[in-house]
Amino acid sequence: MSDSCIFCKIARGEIPSYKVYEDDVVLAFLDVNPSSRGHTLVVPKEHFDDMTKCPKDILDHCFEVAQLIAQAQIKELGATGANVLTNIGKSAGQSVRHFHIHVIPRYDNDGLKLAFPPKQLEDKEMLLIQDSISKGL
Ligand code: 5GP
Ligand code: ZN
Repeated sequence: MSDSCIFCKIARGEIPSYKVYEDDVVLAFLDVNPSSRGHTLVVPKEHFDDMTKCPKDILDHCFEVAQLIAQAQIKELGATGANVLTNIGKSAGQSVRHFHIHVIPRYDNDGLKLAFPPKQLEDKEMLLIQDSISKGL
């Protein structure tokens, strides 16, 4: 737990939230500035700065809950899909430094754009990257 962390405060019940799921380890609540109708955040109650810092059992459980949330959004809100994502670090757009998974329901023609502009790299560069990432595992 961190004194100043907003999601720790939500987990402790010190700041109100629209909770949709809670157990001993995980909490899910509506994003205060939703990107779409039903945009939900799944967080571990314990503080971890981001996904890379979260122990595997808790991470697995967070993604299980994210799956349940996406299924409920499709079943009950009429969503036709969902984007499930987590930002790691400032460069990736992480603004709250407490690991969280966004579950963003999608609707046909909702106009929401998550931009991943395509790039092309030389084969040599692809091989170097392949090698580096494989080595780091
Ligand atoms: P990030 O940019 O770190 O991946 O996402 C943080 C998310 O948390 C944002 O979508 C933002 O709207 C949401 N958020 C920030 N503060 C609060 C809060 O106090 N309550 C709730 N429910 N969501 C918050
Ligand atoms: Zn926290």
